[in-house]
Amino acid sequence: MIITEQKPLTEILESLKGLTKVFLVGCGECATTCKTGGQPELLKMKEQLEVQGKTVTGMCVPNAPCIAAQIKTEFAKNLKALREAEAILVLACGLGIQSAKDNDRLGLVVLPGCNTMFGAVLDAQGNFYEKCSMCGECVLDITGGICPITLCPKGLLNGPCGGMNKGKCEVDNEKDCAWVLIYKELEKRKRLSSLKKIQAPKDFKKATKPHKLIMVK
Ligand code: SF4
Ligand code: SF4
Repeated sequence: MIITEQKPLTEILESLKGLTKVFLVGCGECATTCKTGGQPELLKMKEQLEVQGKTVTGMCVPNAPCIAAQIKTEFAKNLKALREAEAILVLACGLGIQSAKDNDRLGLVVLPGCNTMFGAVLDAQGNFYEKCSMCGECVLDITGGICPITLCPKGLLNGPCGGMNKGKCEVDNEKDCAWVLIYKELEKRKRLSSLKKIQAPKDFKKATKPHKLIMVK
C-alpha cells in the first residue's frame, strides 16, 4: 500500500492559481484507505474549492488510477466534464498523478493533491508501517524476515552500529534497534548461524531509477 497525506489547501490553491475549472480524481485503493483520496475526501475537496470560487466540473474514483486501463475508462466516462475543466487535481499517490497525466488526452494541467510518503503494511487496527524500501536485493531470508534496510535508519547489513544502547536505536531511542530485533528473531528460530556470513555491500545499480519491467513487447 502506498501511503499519502493530503496537501494543505493553501498549497493546492497556490497550484491552481489562474485556473478556475477543476476535475477531481481519487483512488479507490490506497488513497481511499488512507482517507486522502476516496469519495468522501473528493466531496470535501469539491466543497472547499467551491468556497474559494472554483468550479468542480466532475470527479471520478478509479479503483487504481495507477493502472492505465482503469483511468482511461474513467476519463472516457467523464469526457464532457473533463472538456469543461482546465485542470485535473489528483488525490492519489505520485503514481496515480502521473498515470492521470499520461492518460489525459486533452492535455489538461494535472496537479497533485497529495504528498506520497512511503510503502507500508496495514495492521488490523488500521495503522500503517513502513517495512520495505524496495531495494531490489531482498535479504529477509537471512534476517529472520525483518528488513534492516528499512528499519535501521542507516540501512546496515552486518549487525548493529556502535550506537546501539540497551537494545535501542541511537537515532531514535524510542525505537528498538533493528539488528537487536533480527538477533532475537534468529535466536528464537535457532538460525543465528546465518549471521556468520558477511553480507557484501549492496549493489546500488539495482536501485538506479527509474525502474521498469517490460512484460509485453
Ligand atoms: S531487504 Fe528490505 S528493502 Fe530490500 S526488498 Fe527486502 S524487505 Fe524490501
Ligand atoms: S542502533 Fe541499530 S537500528 Fe539504530 S542505526 Fe544503529 S544499527 Fe541501525
